[in-house]
Amino acid sequence: MIYADNAATTRMSDAAVHTLTSLLNETWGNPSSLYGHGQKAKDVLEKARKEVAEVIGAEPREILFTSGGSEADNQAIRSAAELGRRKGKMHIISSAFEHHAVLHTLEKMKGEGFSVTLLDVHENGMIVPAEVEAAIRDDTCLVTIMTANNEIGTIQPIREIGAICRRKNVVFHTDAVQAVGHIPLNVSEDNIDMLSASAHKFHGPKGVGFLYAKKNIQLTNLIEGGAQEHGKRAGTENVPGIAAMAEALKEANAKMAENAAHLTKMRDRLIDGLRQIPHSALNGDATHRLPGNVNFCFEGIEGESLLLLLDDKGICASSGSACTSGSLDPSHVLLAIGRVHDVAHGSLRLSIGEDITEDETDYIIRSVKEVVEYLRGFSPIWRDLMAGKKAFIL
Ligand SMILES: *Cc1c(COP(=O)(O)O)cnc(C)c1O
Repeated sequence: MIYADNAATTRMSDAAVHTLTSLLNETWGNPSSLYGHGQKAKDVLEKARKEVAEVIGAEPREILFTSGGSEADNQAIRSAAELGRRKGKMHIISSAFEHHAVLHTLEKMKGEGFSVTLLDVHENGMIVPAEVEAAIRDDTCLVTIMTANNEIGTIQPIREIGAICRRKNVVFHTDAVQAVGHIPLNVSEDNIDMLSASAHKFHGPKGVGFLYAKKNIQLTNLIEGGAQEHGKRAGTENVPGIAAMAEALKEANAKMAENAAHLTKMRDRLIDGLRQIPHSALNGDATHRLPGNVNFCFEGIEGESLLLLLDDKGICASSGSACTSGSLDPSHVLLAIGRVHDVAHGSLRLSIGEDITEDETDYIIRSVKEVVEYLRGFSPIWRDLMAGKKAFIL
């Protein structure tokens, strides 16, 4: 099997599995307990906090452990909104191609009286800092723009956006779930006030993540209860999961340059190969892009059928869309970069992993070519396109 869906989730690293299982066996105490067994768990927890903080250039007390990226996004937005409300600032800026954890939270905030500006995403999948600046108003309390998009992999100019927010005295949050452990990030150099991350996107376990919040930002609780996490996130901490996350992050960070060099080479090989398919297009900028992300549209086919046939060939990929059974809506990300419905339906996201080989890359290219050709063979849309009854878009 070739696993090319690392944007959905990653396999846990051996080191992370080892940390998780050994802690489950040995250090299962409650970190809030005062006896030695509990305090051992507390030590593990605080060591993990220090390690995570160090990787992103934060202080340990600025790291709040959560159940993952979605929770971190929810808490970041709600906290900044609450701080804004107290000052009478009820305007939030974001973009049209954010993850649903951000977009759906913003919908809720609208219901609570906030106004939300969703910036347009350019055709190349990029947000322009000057357009962020132009959208900032006197009553803007938050700008939330993702570091890297989970479907098309484009990396946003967050340092510039952060600098604008600093200058304008607006809180800047970034959903960095796809970026942490994959590309260099430093919250102080990158002018970030709040950042969300998730362990299972960098070879850690699922159900664990963290929120970085600069120390002057007062967080709003999503979960009330005990005084864990400085009273900002109640519930007994998932100590083994958190320690395994820290382990995975250290490893990803140490190997980042090496991994990125290999992935970029394989990514560009895939892009070059898939571009040879007629009436296809790469989605998102070719260079401002995550090292492991490839996303294409192929005219005249359905992404879902493509995925099923690739699965038969042992390739795990994704359409990169929310197009699950029951919903036939094309990806909001592809629509945001201006793909029309018909074209957006024929999408393929390959998010490759560090262990991919050149042979596997070539096998993917061959397989996609074969399957696209096969599907076009009996696609009514393709027949109309070829007969000139419909105009090609790509
Ligand atoms: C996966 C993902 C999330 C959600 O993270 P979970 O840990 O699965 O809740 C949020 N944002 C982006 C960009 C993601 O890729």
